[in-house]
Amino acid sequence: MSTRLEALAERLDAALLVTDLTNILYLTGFDSSNAALLVPPRGTATLYTDFRYAEAAEGVPGVEVEMTKRSIMSDVGGRLKGTVQFEADVLPYLQWERLSEGSAKLVPTHGIVAAARAVKDDDEIAKLRKAARIADRAFEALTAETFVGRSEKEIAWRLHELLHAHGAEELSFESIVASGPNGAMPHARPTDRIVDRGTLVTVDWGARVDGYCSDCTRTVSTGGLPGRLREAYDVCLEAQKRACASIRAGMTGVDADAVARDPITDAGFGADFGHGLGHGVGLMVHEAPRLSTESTDTLEPGHVVTIEPGIYLQGVGGCRIEDLAVVREDRVELLTSFPKELIEVR
Ligand code: ZN
Ligand code: ZN
Repeated sequence: MSTRLEALAERLDAALLVTDLTNILYLTGFDSSNAALLVPPRGTATLYTDFRYAEAAEGVPGVEVEMTKRSIMSDVGGRLKGTVQFEADVLPYLQWERLSEGSAKLVPTHGIVAAARAVKDDDEIAKLRKAARIADRAFEALTAETFVGRSEKEIAWRLHELLHAHGAEELSFESIVASGPNGAMPHARPTDRIVDRGTLVTVDWGARVDGYCSDCTRTVSTGGLPGRLREAYDVCLEAQKRACASIRAGMTGVDADAVARDPITDAGFGADFGHGLGHGVGLMVHEAPRLSTESTDTLEPGHVVTIEPGIYLQGVGGCRIEDLAVVREDRVELLTSFPKELIEVR
């Protein structure tokens, strides 16, 4: 059995039916669009999948493979016995109904595999570092090109090309390129808006390499900024640097968030920073833990998180600065390295 499966089994007092496909990938290396994995506290795990993945499943070490119909949950439900925990945060209600047709006692749970996934081993950190480096280089190449006069969509597409050229397998997520007033929307989608002189452009992008995602944001200037926007950038940068210098293992997600939020609030921009400071990154671009006012997490060594304060001025523009960082005992180690001082692009 894989060490990840063994470590999970040790933490269980009842069997866990894993249905999150990324969790199954993490635990077994099995990558499919239709599977379930039953992990008992003792004994061998069972991997359920359908005919399309039969051959791939046979190659998974340390699990027993059972074939099911395409409609996997009704089949699996009939084979489960005793008490079985299920991932209540990912199993759709309809699938739960099918599972319940069997005789097992189903107990909702969540976050068990997520907590294990949040702590990265050295191999995972090396992949994340590689993804971040590729993303950095692609962006560096982008900033040598012209922004003014190109549309946000054109710039996003060009970044996509550069990411591939530098070795990304795919994007971690659809890149954000938000200029002028569009920068006031944290999750703006690139539009046909032509980038103007005298404003900020926020670019949020990531490369997926060896299955692992990077996530980075930089905000660049097209020169001659309105005073309020320039001030917002400076406040955001100071808050971001303060968070990078202060966050360490043992801090709660709430306290980590406050390190950046407090100076932004003190500078009068508190209401303009409406999202959390960061999130875990790994096989998925958003995973545990969370750094926010609502977080229930505590940072552990090996967590890989973003540190991304932003200030959004409705109708004017906005900025966000995001680094990807490994949490260590007494500090964070940044995986992203593109400069954060405001640069001017053409
Ligand atoms: Zn991002
Ligand atoms: Zn992010």
